[in-house]
Amino acid sequence: MRQEGKAYNCFCTPDEAQAIKLSLKSQGDKRNYDGRCSHLTEEDVARRKRAGHKHVVRFKVCLSRPRFIELICRRILEKTTHRT
Ligand SMILES: [Zn+2]
Repeated sequence: MRQEGKAYNCFCTPDEAQAIKLSLKSQGDKRNYDGRCSHLTEEDVARRKRAGHKHVVRFKVCLSRPRFIELICRRILEKTTHRT
């Protein structure tokens, strides 16, 4: 599932994700997510996984604007979330 450069693990809780979305919206940014977890190092990711943090796989393409892509990504994220 995880291809190099295209997908990354996101450790934001639903509350955090919601807060990010609201803060982007207040800045007039239409994205749902700012991609902050795409900057985590592999070490960070491994440490958080070991600590049992829940995560979803996000796709970098989800950060681009077109609405239909957002819909697809939301579906992918829901599927990924429900698996755990
Ligand atoms: Zn995140």
